[in-house]
Amino acid sequence: MLPADMPILLALLIVSIATSAFVALRYFAASGLFALITQRVRPGLYEGKKRQIGREIRWSLIAAIIYGAPAGMVLWAWNHLGWTRLYTDFGAYPLWYLPVSVFIYLFAQDTWFYWSHRAMHHRRLFRIMHAVHHDSRPPTSWTAMSFHPMESLTGALLIPLLVFILPIHIAMLGVVLTAATIMGVTNHMGWEMFPRALVHSPLGNWVITASHHEKHHEHYACNFGLYFRFWDRLCGTDRGLSKRMVEQSGDAPRGVRI
Ligand SMILES: [Zn+2]
Ligand SMILES: [Zn+2]
Repeated sequence: MLPADMPILLALLIVSIATSAFVALRYFAASGLFALITQRVRPGLYEGKKRQIGREIRWSLIAAIIYGAPAGMVLWAWNHLGWTRLYTDFGAYPLWYLPVSVFIYLFAQDTWFYWSHRAMHHRRLFRIMHAVHHDSRPPTSWTAMSFHPMESLTGALLIPLLVFILPIHIAMLGVVLTAATIMGVTNHMGWEMFPRALVHSPLGNWVITASHHEKHHEHYACNFGLYFRFWDRLCGTDRGLSKRMVEQSGDAPRGVRI
């Protein structure tokens, strides 16, 4: 807890550094864990990628600062001024609102990501904002936060703004951020961890996993979504799953798929 008489700007700086460090540690933990799993279930997949991974980590650390700073300031405003619609009392809203709020946040994030991502594929914006992310060919578990700072900015502000508008329990916000972290890492790690029964099921037709996002990295002008295939399907940009990945997961030895 920071002293109450600390100048606001200094307090904001300290919480921003702390949350940025937390985001960076979360990145190392999640990407590192799935890199280790990849080494076991797909040995050699990241071989010869040392330079690419080094570059991904450097961009991701800059992204961690850009994501962490506004999040820290919002947490401070919540703590000290009572701003935001974050709540801690499970009884404050009906219980059904807990999962609904998670879905609303994920859908809002997905909608924002789809349209901003599509815009960044416009040739005028691509070089400036989005080429860094596509420099990873093919991506790895370390690509999850490998963004140009301008792209990071587009992603870093949405949730800090949403918490001022849409009520969410702090634990449900944790669920949203955990889902964002895990899907961000696993969608880039180069192999499909979900069982074929899910990926090729009616639910799989609406949810994005690695097989779907890999196709975006292969072909660029399709599969722009983040969590759901809703906008891609509605706008005719869904081109299905990566053939390479579907074939590979078909050949995977038993027990490899989680
Ligand atoms: Zn990507
Ligand atoms: Zn892209």
